[in-house]
Amino acid sequence: MTTHDWVIAIDGPAAAGKSTVAQRLAERLGVMLFDTGALYRAVSLAALRHGVAKDDALGLARLAGEADIALAPPSAADGRLYDVLLDGEDVTWTIRTPEVGAIVSQVSEHPAVRDALLPLQRAIASSRPVVMVGRDIGTVVVPDAGVKIYLDAAPEVRARRRYHESLARGGAGSYDAVLQETRQRDATDSGRATAPLRAAKDAVRINTDDLDIDEVVAQIERIVHVQTAESRTL
Ligand code: C5P
Repeated sequence: MTTHDWVIAIDGPAAAGKSTVAQRLAERLGVMLFDTGALYRAVSLAALRHGVAKDDALGLARLAGEADIALAPPSAADGRLYDVLLDGEDVTWTIRTPEVGAIVSQVSEHPAVRDALLPLQRAIASSRPVVMVGRDIGTVVVPDAGVKIYLDAAPEVRARRRYHESLARGGAGSYDAVLQETRQRDATDSGRATAPLRAAKDAVRINTDDLDIDEVVAQIERIVHVQTAESRTL
């Protein structure tokens, strides 16, 4: 057994259902949830607040290294899956605004920013059983994770989900705009040179176009149980 057998890595494009699936799975298994997208979003918010440009790799990396970013269990019943704290301030919803969404992919493209966020992610992976969500968990952050899942869905399906989520929170904006942002984010995340979005060779791919959350969670739970049984017999 390696230390990271207890890590369940869930990667995939924006709005494939990763966070909701991961939260339910973590709850059912009684383990921690760690959504790494929140880290990149928090750095992007800090950049907007400090006037650091999205192409200023060094300035952004400094922010990423110096900012105190923490994820904690949800402190309010307002639809959040977890709290995001930036230097002690609750920014759970501020990191979900269109302003942050518009720059987060470019901010996370810089290798120096990614490097600055690696120690925190690896420390979490080595500390306890955890469901980790992101783009490069199975490929870069925890390549020896015990279970690797790659969740995917058609861009139209994902954009529709994000659009309805935003409407439910009272957001404005059109479906077409959300679809365009989804496509742009896919292109930037998959096209970047460092840690691009892609499935690890040994990841199990699940397409969620026609599956509801419970079905996806059940599939992953089955995979986790098989893996756990296998690692016990080694
Ligand atoms: O998952 P979420 O949509 O919150 O992620 C926001 C952005 O953060 C992604 O579009 C991607 O650019 C970046 N990200 C990343 N690596 C991760 C998690 C997120 O580059 N592990």
